[in-house]
Amino acid sequence: MQNKTVTVLGAGYVGLTTAALLAHSGYKVYVVEPNPKRLDIIKQGRSFFYEQGLDEVIAVAINAGNLTPTDSYSESVPNSSTIFSSVGTPDNPDGSSNLTYVFSAAEEAAKHMKPGSVYIQKSTVPVGTGERIEKIFAKLKNKITYISNPEFLREGTALFDTLYFDRIVAGGNDTKTVDYVLNIYRELEKNREKISKLAGVESKPHTGQYIHTSLNSAELIKVTSNAFLALKISFANSIAKLADKVNADIVEVMDAVGADKRIGRAFLNAGRGYGGGCFPKDVSGLIASGIQNGVDLEIMNAAQALNETMPGYIVEKLQSKIGGSLKGKKVAVLGLSFKAGTSDVRRSPGMLLANSLSKAGAVVTTFDPQANHEAAEDLRKGVIQCESIESAIDNIDAIIVATEWPELLSYSPAKYAKPMNNGKIFVDAINRFQKSDITSAGLTYIGVGR
Ligand code: NAD
Repeated sequence: MQNKTVTVLGAGYVGLTTAALLAHSGYKVYVVEPNPKRLDIIKQGRSFFYEQGLDEVIAVAINAGNLTPTDSYSESVPNSSTIFSSVGTPDNPDGSSNLTYVFSAAEEAAKHMKPGSVYIQKSTVPVGTGERIEKIFAKLKNKITYISNPEFLREGTALFDTLYFDRIVAGGNDTKTVDYVLNIYRELEKNREKISKLAGVESKPHTGQYIHTSLNSAELIKVTSNAFLALKISFANSIAKLADKVNADIVEVMDAVGADKRIGRAFLNAGRGYGGGCFPKDVSGLIASGIQNGVDLEIMNAAQALNETMPGYIVEKLQSKIGGSLKGKKVAVLGLSFKAGTSDVRRSPGMLLANSLSKAGAVVTTFDPQANHEAAEDLRKGVIQCESIESAIDNIDAIIVATEWPELLSYSPAKYAKPMNNGKIFVDAINRFQKSDITSAGLTYIGVGR
């Protein structure tokens, strides 16, 4: 019989969200975080990153005694019959997945887990990793069951995605334990309206799927999902480059292509390309898995290579419109997080754009509604961070909108145009503005494939 105490290893974007939500679903939750800065902030009852509604959910759970942040395995793991691992899986320089944290967490947990515990892997790992961890647990001879339960939440809508999921996937060699894991999410589902109200996130009548698979399938499902979404973006970008040459509009093209239900419109979005803490490393991790297993995933190499050209493609378009050289030109990059709704700037196209413009000699100002703090460390010296759109675009030659923040999309073209210098170039790196609105405000519009 499993008790209702769980430990979540790693309080990052995934772990902290999971821990906080489980703490509102009838579980006593320990969340283990070794990074002292992150841990201190969480102990104060809030998140170290921006995610709508998360602070409220954390604060209430900690005050109710249902969520205990700690850096100690010995305080948390022996009291829990269920352990979730959601530690980071960055990439190695060769693109393969760096599993250092995955294995160190499993090995450390192994020292403390009580017999019969369930170890649930939420981190994105290459197929075959679970089998390797099962071998470590087998040596303990105390019947630890390993389950792969990949995470599909999106930063920016993490609470909504976890509560109103499309699917929960759990895979493992013990059918009963896979069902046990799926039932944890059924508990969460029962509490979701109460939690959405507390967090102030949208709620809706909705039934997601519970999918029971083998261990290796579950691992492969996760990376395949992200790889396919990345593929759609790169496909749209490759057609966008052609659209630029032949004077077609990629948005019109993809609206019509995506209207075919067999294809679907989602993610056929051309622009500055994908970034963030998942897609780039999950694509390179899948390519590496292919190589290790003698399988040619050339299609993913192409998607990755195309994606890497996109920030440069946009800089070149701006450069040719601005008169050949960016030296001394004043350019504002609006949007530094890799997507709206988060403060995460890992491999963010907005950051790449700001840094490469600065490298090319432009005077760069930036603004982001949530990511200014996280961006500060990775921006080149000389890039000027501003606290408002107004101050970022004052006296500027060109604006690049790189993230689909609502405040940037709803800012009126006339207001963008007014404080700018002559020339007034507006680069829509996310293809989200109406061309005619921008040009009617006296701005020159540059999109991607438009
Ligand atoms: P993250 O880097 O924000 O968080 C990982 C945390 O684990 C860090 O705070 C780190 O200090 C901690 N950690 C490292 N070693 C540890 C150990 N031995 N014990 C306990 N904690 C340890 O990463 P993230 O974005 O939350 O991603 C976690 C995993 O989930 C990754 O595999 C990622 O690919 C996957 N994932 C992420 C997202 C997302 O949107 N961020 C979505 C789906 C899946």
